[in-house]
Formats: sequence, C-alpha cells, structure tokens
Amino acid sequence: MDTKTLQQLSQEELIKLVQQLQLKIDLLQKGVQEEPVDFKRLVEAADDIIFVLDSEGNMIYRNRAMEDLFPVSRKDAIGMHFSLYLPAIELDRATTVFNQILFEGKSIHNEKMKTFDKDGNPVYLMANLAPIKDDEGNITGLFGILRNITEMHLMEKKLKESSRRLEEKIKEQLRQAEELKRLSTLNDEIINNSPIGIFTIDPTGIILTENPALRRIIGYGPDETRVGMNLTEMPGFSVDLKKYLEEIATQKKPVYVKNLTYQPTNQDRELTLNVRANPILDFDKKVKSILIMIEDATEQAQIQKRMQRAEKLSAMGLLAAGVAYELKVPINLLTIDLNFIENNIPETSPIHDYVKSMKDELSRISQITEQLLNLGKPGDDDVETFEVHKLITSHPIQITLNRLQKSGFIINTAYPKESPKIKGRKNQLVQALLHIISNAEEAMPNKGEIRINVGSVVKNGEKFASITIEDTGIGIPPENLSKIFQPFFTTKGPKSTGLGLMVTYTIINNHGGAIGVKSAPGEGTSFKILLPAID
Ligand code: ADP
Ligand code: MG
Repeated sequence: MDTKTLQQLSQEELIKLVQQLQLKIDLLQKGVQEEPVDFKRLVEAADDIIFVLDSEGNMIYRNRAMEDLFPVSRKDAIGMHFSLYLPAIELDRATTVFNQILFEGKSIHNEKMKTFDKDGNPVYLMANLAPIKDDEGNITGLFGILRNITEMHLMEKKLKESSRRLEEKIKEQLRQAEELKRLSTLNDEIINNSPIGIFTIDPTGIILTENPALRRIIGYGPDETRVGMNLTEMPGFSVDLKKYLEEIATQKKPVYVKNLTYQPTNQDRELTLNVRANPILDFDKKVKSILIMIEDATEQAQIQKRMQRAEKLSAMGLLAAGVAYELKVPINLLTIDLNFIENNIPETSPIHDYVKSMKDELSRISQITEQLLNLGKPGDDDVETFEVHKLITSHPIQITLNRLQKSGFIINTAYPKESPKIKGRKNQLVQALLHIISNAEEAMPNKGEIRINVGSVVKNGEKFASITIEDTGIGIPPENLSKIFQPFFTTKGPKSTGLGLMVTYTIINNHGGAIGVKSAPGEGTSFKILLPAID
C-alpha cells in the first residue's frame, strides 16, 4: 500500500483505504497502538475529495481537495452539516442521497453528479458513497470519495458532439451519393436513348462502355458487345484512328473529325460519320479515358451532295439545251448539203461510203441535240401512268437486249407480274435506261452479264418503284464516282460525248426520282433508280 501514492489508487482502493483509516481511528480510540504507515497524510494529499460524515450528517473529516472545491475553511467545516456546504441547486438531490445512505444503509457506486465550483463553473463528479457501520451493524456515519471527472466529462461531450457531426456528415454524403446515383441513372437514360453513338475508350483504344446507338451505327446486334475490343483494330474506318488517339494523348484537347467514311460489316451502305473525341483527364492531368460521340451524318451528307449536283446539273442542262438549239440550224444545213452531194456523184464513186458515214455521224449529233433539247422542255404533253416494268418490256429496250444476247452477253431480267405504277414520260425514261445499258455494254469488252431488276421500296414512309441495272464490267474507280453524272465527263476518249449519264440523271430528277451508283473496280457496277410510285 505504501509503495503507491494516493493519486495512483483506484476508487475501490481508496474506499478500502478510508475504511482502514476508520478502523485505525476506532482502534486508536480503543487504545491500540498506531501502525507506522501515515494514512492520514496520504488521504490529506489525495486529489480525490475524501470526507466522513457522522450519523446526523455533520462533517467530521474532509481532506484538502474538498476545500478547493467548496470554499469553507477547515476550522469552520468540521462539525458543519453537509447542507451548509452544498450549492443550493444541489441540496435537494444530495439530501435525498445522503439520507438514503444514513438511514437505509444504501451505498452509491460510481455515480455521476453535477455541481458547481466556487467560481460557479460546472463540475462533474464521480461519487462513491457508503455507510460506516459499528460492530452491531448500526450506521454511525457516511464516508465519501468524489473524483473530479469534469475534464473527462467535457472530453466525452466533445467526443459525442464530434461523433454527432461526423454522423451528420456521413448522412450528407449518403444523401449526395443518392443524388449522384439519381443523376447518373438520368444520364444513363439520356445516353441510352441518344441517337448519337456514345462510348468511352482507354488511351490505347480499348472500348470501356458503349450505348445502343453505337451498336446501330457500327452495325452489331443488341446482344453483342464491343466492350474490351480495340477501336483502332475495328475494320471499316477510312482513316487511321491510332493517329487521332496519339494526338489526343499529347495535346489533351478534343478532336473533331467531320465526314469520316465508315463501312459497316453488316451492310454494304457506306456511312458518313462525324466523330468528336473528348479526353477525360485524371488528377495528374494524364488522359485517363476518352469519351467519343459518333453522329451518323450519312443522310445529311447525301442530301448535301445531291443538292450540289442538282444545282450544277440543272445549270449545265440549261446551257446544253441552249447550245443544242443553236446547233439545230447548222445541222439542218449540213444535212441538206450532204443530200445534195449524194445526189450529184456517180453511183459507183467511193465517196458514197464517206457521205453515208458523214450522214450517220450527223444523225448522231442531231440525236444528241434532240435529247438535250428535250431536257429543257418541261411541258406534259406525253405524260402517262404505267407500270414501271413496262419500261423494260418497251420496244427499244427489248431490241437492245436481244442484240446484246445475240452477241454473247448474258441478260437477266426479273420483274413482278404487277409492278408499282409511275407517272411520267415513257420515252424519256426509256432513253435514260438505254444510256445505262449502253454503258454496261461498253464496260464489258469481253462480254459478261447484265441483270435488270424491278421492284418497290418504301423510304421515309413513301413508296418508290425501283429499277436496278447491274453489270459485271470493269467498274468505276472511287475517285470517278462523283464525276460520272457530270456533263462531258468520259473515260472513253474523244469519240464519246460524256453526256449519257448526265441526260439520265436529269430525266430521273425531272420525274422526282433519284439515281445512285455502286461499283467495285474489276467486279462490276450497279445503278439503282427510284421513281415515286402512284397508288
Ligand atoms: P460516256 O459513256 O459517253 O463516257 P456517260 O455519261 O454515259 O458518258 O458515262 C460517263 C463515264 O462513266 C464513262 O466514261 C465511264 O467512265 C463511267 N461509266 C458509266 N457507266 C459505267 C459502267 N457501267 N461501268 C464502268 N464505267 C461506267
Ligand atoms: Mg455513255
């Protein structure tokens, strides 16, 4: 016991010490020798408040610690009733407690109490109070140990307060997370319903996420995924995507590529795409991922192209018609002169052959001018309504196809018994088809196959009659595809006019239709004509 100082003792040990002290006092009163340990000095020096009351509640002992808390001098304190010590607001409660101990023998163990120091500051005490009993068990007094736990209490309070704040913070964060989740599902909805293909890739091109529009544009099923694949290894793009990724990685700026051509694997239609790539940077300002948005601008680009072509062609058509008109008179004069020469040379003269050839060429020139003149003439004198396959069964086309078949071409025509009806100038439309057929013939110097199909298609809710004319000829190089409808464009040398497809285009256009071409050099060419169908 004497090896420890009082401050190091637990409350239980202190209680025991006080009991022993009381015992010592009793023993002393009975004349027994005091032991050498100076308990009184130890108790006096303790930080805990230690006091003893007699059976009536009068103070018979208190240590220095109590004096610090309740400013009553030691002289005055001894013999004073406890009620005179305590702050008024504590009196009721303390009286109840002390009476319970002194009259009922109860004890109080580690109970928290609040009181006030001499300056009026709150003080929190941990109280241990117990009755003192004599040999017969009668209560002769009360001893108490009060430990000042104000600091601990305040710390506890602070701890509670900060844990409450922490809890609030967590709640707020949870609420924010909830909000974020709600926002991200909203984002998901937008991304899922967007007509724009939206996906993310890592800096090397590996696809991380994809949306339904991307599936549609790139051309794969809703059950398939491209996540995990490398974008730069995907076929069909007309440019080297790696180059763009490097550019994004080094410049860390968005890249926008307009009118990029893409060939989907599941359809033969080539697409025009507008692609925007936005780098997403991490904290170190390194490219973490790239957000890519792909817009299918095929329709847009086609409309633009068609518009440009139509403008150019209609201006050219007007010019051509004007030239043709001016040519009519000289051609007539030349024909008359040739007839005169023919009639005035001997029957046996070889000049007859030359004249015949000149007359043939002249009639070809006259034919061309006729065609060009017709283009400029809108009137609806010979407009009629007929089934579109009647164009194929028309006399001029049948004669041409028969001639081709006889000279070794394979001719395949397919049309339904009842084909869609169209309204227009049959003669002009037949002319248009003849231009395409003669081009097909010229594209197959070693013979080949010509396939003609008639059918119907619905586009944007409108019904069209369709005619496709395919050949297995030399094909058209991609760089020429945009030029073939231009007037005077030809790859066949000075003997050709380069007007055939221009005339064809103008006729189809005048009928409210459209003409398109697909070609693979060395494999063949396919022209498709759409004409508005009549119910
Ligand atoms: P021309 O036949 O007098 O050359 P066209 O306007 O009829 O003029 O055709 C223009 C050009 O388009 C041709 O010179 C040729 O290069 C190309 N072309 C048209 N049709 C075909 C085809 N079926 N196969 C290959 N090339 C074609
Ligand atoms: Mg031609």
